[in-house]
Amino acid sequence: MPEKNYDVVIVGAGPAGLTAAIYTSRRALSTLVLSKDIGGQMALTDDIQNYPGFEIIEGLVLAQKFQEQAAQTGSEFLFEGVGRIEKTEDGFIVKTETGRQFLARAVILAFGLSPRTLDVAGEKELIGKGVSYCATCDGPLYRGKTVAVIGGGNSALDAAEYLSKIAKKVYMLLRRDVFRGEEILVEQVKAADNVEIIFNAKVKALKGKERLESLAYVLNDSEEHDLDLEGIFIEIGHVAKTDWLNNLGLKMTERQELIVNADNETSIKGIFAAGDITSITYKQAVISAGEGAKAALQAYRYLQGNKPLMPDWSVKK
Ligand code: NDP
Repeated sequence: MPEKNYDVVIVGAGPAGLTAAIYTSRRALSTLVLSKDIGGQMALTDDIQNYPGFEIIEGLVLAQKFQEQAAQTGSEFLFEGVGRIEKTEDGFIVKTETGRQFLARAVILAFGLSPRTLDVAGEKELIGKGVSYCATCDGPLYRGKTVAVIGGGNSALDAAEYLSKIAKKVYMLLRRDVFRGEEILVEQVKAADNVEIIFNAKVKALKGKERLESLAYVLNDSEEHDLDLEGIFIEIGHVAKTDWLNNLGLKMTERQELIVNADNETSIKGIFAAGDITSITYKQAVISAGEGAKAALQAYRYLQGNKPLMPDWSVKK
């Protein structure tokens, strides 16, 4: 049985979900945020250097600021994953993974992406035993040790730069000979004495009995090598995990991202989506925050019977 009714239930508490919460509660909509954690990927970023207003800020600190603001404006929080959403006649039942149920007149999906795995031998078995997907969380365990970072995007660069200050030696392995991340981060990593960048290196296997001991890779599609390591940080992007929503029949892209229109409406009335889990091209904290605000305003408009919004915060359509 549903234990409480809300105007809006927001799934996810990254920049999109938390900004949506600030906006819905400021519009006096009763709001519940359901999430496994606070900040999502943003909280796993050591230093954010491109969020306007903050020259540099720790991701978790920024996420906490968002949360405080959402809580101050009246949003409620429950730290549980959502397992299922069902449509009812006039809204939705949102069920958490532990079986708690809530009624919502509108839902905002903002639960972000999940880390992509390498899918090589030994990876699954050694998770938590030297294999990590989060340098900010697990980096401090590798003080004075030898580690590798896999990937060439901003996440991998951010991880390599952070780990260079902790570990004795950091290998960075890219499968191609180009970075995908921002030049400023590339320069920072190149400037660190203890980082060795290996291009055209494809990881083949992770080896170790009790814990990770080495990784096997192929260089330039021909030479086989082994690297002795104590830790590996797999930072190769993220994937959308939306299969738990399949019962609703939401329209998704080939990559399983939720398709939204310019006003953050999904293919189902009353369900809105924002941030990295949607089909938007650029996955950035500042963009997710803006998208969360849009989703909240559109949810408010929907709950008001789709009346035009106040002219001070929308152009007439
Ligand atoms: P990206 O998709 O940007 O980069 C993924 C990297 O991993 C690429 O170098 C890619 O190589 C590589 N890769 C993918 N699959 C494999 C594989 N199977 N084996 C080996 N390498 C692989 O993901 P990120 O997580 O780095 O970034 C995602 C978004 O988050 C970006 O928009 C980024 O800007 C943002 N972000 C921003 C930060 C900041 O501004 N400080 C910090 C972290 C993330 P290839 O290029 O060959 O495909």
